[in-house]
Amino acid sequence: MPAEISTLQKTRALPGVRELLTDAVEAVGGTERDGQVRMAEAVARAIRTGEHLAVQAGTGTGKSLAYLVPAIRYAVEQHTTVVVSTATIALQNQLVDRDLPRLAKALKKPLGREPTFAILKGRRNYLCMHRVHSGAPEEPEDSGLFDAFTVSRIGREVKRLHEWSSETETGDRTELVPGVSEQAWRQVSVSARECLGAARCPVGDDCFAEKARADAGRVDVVVTNHALLAIDALQEQRVLPEHDLVVIDEAHELVDRVTSAATAELTASAVSAATRRCGRIIDADTSDRLLEAGEGLALVLDDLPAGRLDTLPQALGGAVTVVRDAAHACLTALGSERKEDVEEATARKLARSAVEEIHDTAVRLVDAFDADQANRPDVVWISNDTYSSSPRPPSLHVAPLAVGGLLRERVFARSTTVLTSATLALGGRFDTLARQWGLPPEPTPVPVDDGTATDKPAPADDADDGLRWSGLDVGSPFDYGRNGILYVAKHLPPPGRDGLGDATLDEIAALVEAAGGRTLGLFSSMRAAKRAAEELRERLPYEILCQGDDSTSTLVAQFAEEPRTCLLGTLSLWQGVDVPGPSLQLVIVDRLPFPRPDDPVASARQRAIEAKGGNGFLTVAATHAALLLAQGAGRLHRSSNDRGVVAVLDSRLATARYGGFLRASIPPFWPTQDPAVARDALTRLDAAAPGRSSTSTALR
Ligand code: SF4
Repeated sequence: MPAEISTLQKTRALPGVRELLTDAVEAVGGTERDGQVRMAEAVARAIRTGEHLAVQAGTGTGKSLAYLVPAIRYAVEQHTTVVVSTATIALQNQLVDRDLPRLAKALKKPLGREPTFAILKGRRNYLCMHRVHSGAPEEPEDSGLFDAFTVSRIGREVKRLHEWSSETETGDRTELVPGVSEQAWRQVSVSARECLGAARCPVGDDCFAEKARADAGRVDVVVTNHALLAIDALQEQRVLPEHDLVVIDEAHELVDRVTSAATAELTASAVSAATRRCGRIIDADTSDRLLEAGEGLALVLDDLPAGRLDTLPQALGGAVTVVRDAAHACLTALGSERKEDVEEATARKLARSAVEEIHDTAVRLVDAFDADQANRPDVVWISNDTYSSSPRPPSLHVAPLAVGGLLRERVFARSTTVLTSATLALGGRFDTLARQWGLPPEPTPVPVDDGTATDKPAPADDADDGLRWSGLDVGSPFDYGRNGILYVAKHLPPPGRDGLGDATLDEIAALVEAAGGRTLGLFSSMRAAKRAAEELRERLPYEILCQGDDSTSTLVAQFAEEPRTCLLGTLSLWQGVDVPGPSLQLVIVDRLPFPRPDDPVASARQRAIEAKGGNGFLTVAATHAALLLAQGAGRLHRSSNDRGVVAVLDSRLATARYGGFLRASIPPFWPTQDPAVARDALTRLDAAAPGRSSTSTALR
């Protein structure tokens, strides 16, 4: 029990969640909202009963207070730590820099002490003082890929990192402004596998990562990210402090983030880097064997096309098996830890970790093709971006086909879990995402408008009916039907393969002109975004920003600052733009954001579901599109005064059978298919915007 817990607190019952929420809302200067209260009470109930909870809480609900208040109350009452996981750094920073400090102060009196919190990231995010002290070792991996200019830039960055190491109190990479390149950072950081271990490390007592972990074990709330949550679930050795309550915010991203954390890559350059690492420690014959295996892999990969592999080509299977066996021989030669000086121990650890990674990935790649296709745990593909602006040699990837089993066994079975986001109930139901998370079917199904999305449920990932959960949609305080229009351009031809057609470009220009700029364009490809930007620059007098012209954060800041500016781009803008006010009154979506047909993971998941009798398209592709569409449309309303139009220029939203499912996944805007209605509304909004003469604000 923390020493600072007062005697008073030990003997008295803590105030209820409702009372604490009122205190918290007052302290942060907000107003109590019905949805927020309902959510806080539901979270408190989940904590009490141990039943998992999925809460959809629209923008403006104040959902972070709604889960933090009951979570903190529980942590203080039970003298335990609760874990809050986010997908994005932006939300992580908001919680740690804004919400939690204010909440801690507000709850100090009613709880009898000030609640405590800390942030915890993966080891690679902290400066490794051992690497700093032992001098930056050469970076073997990919070293041949850098030109002299890059090498000298990396050198300057590493020097700066050494200077920073004597100033920083946390060693947390995000506190270094401006940041440094990944190559430089890798020279002063280690992965969990590469770490010597605090007991062996000569500077283990001053280790930033160890300190962050120790702090995390002592506080009431630990804020982390989905990747670390996944690593905690994947590894036998826990990285998060012991906990029995976890809140997963931005839960719509959970499956993707866990999939990324569980994805491994094998490249010829990683094999040769590992060889160099063990070359000085083991006999030359054994390390040469691995070197040759890597060269053989490079030759085979060079001859294969990029894409998903449903069968293992014989030559590739042979090359990967040779890598696996050579890596195994190196591991045997490296042996386990032994009595040796720190320098030797460090070199052995780095070599072991590099070779182990190669070995484990090669084993997984070979095993991935063992089972019959419908029951394979992993999907394998070759990526080859030789022709991109920053070419990389071909590489092999292996990713899990499903993560539900992992989440079920290692997250839901261990802790009461609250999942929340503005977008969880796709097509009006939580079922689709719950199945991907490994939860059993929704306890009380609610019919959707056209039934297409859920009448043929995907086979759950061996869901266990013993897990109990409930779903709750607390809505949003925003009046979407009054303040927003969903315009679907039904008259346009369905989008083709050849990019934006003339009719679509005309439509975009007419809408942006009516809106007087103020447009966020969300495109399905960079090619489409650039084409639209070129066209708009020619036709209209407004500043048109396009993703890639500058850093995304700079572009978003400029877009927010100058109301008549437009910002066009792709994926990161669908979720990462938070611009309230008159700078954003029109969101344009060029086409429904289905995964690319050649996306290896999505296509393999789709096929696996179909093999089990489910509807792969609806479960994978339509779910992906629904999540992104809801996130994209959600960019329009960031505050209660925001008004505007979401224009979807893909007629399939109106005409396709799955259109109802997608429409039911986005906020309930007033719908129209009439372009004149959309343009008139935008013209009126433009005229009524601050600084303009008209004061009419009627949207329709
Ligand atoms: S304990 Fe590990 S991470 Fe920490 S300084 Fe030592 S080697 Fe680096």
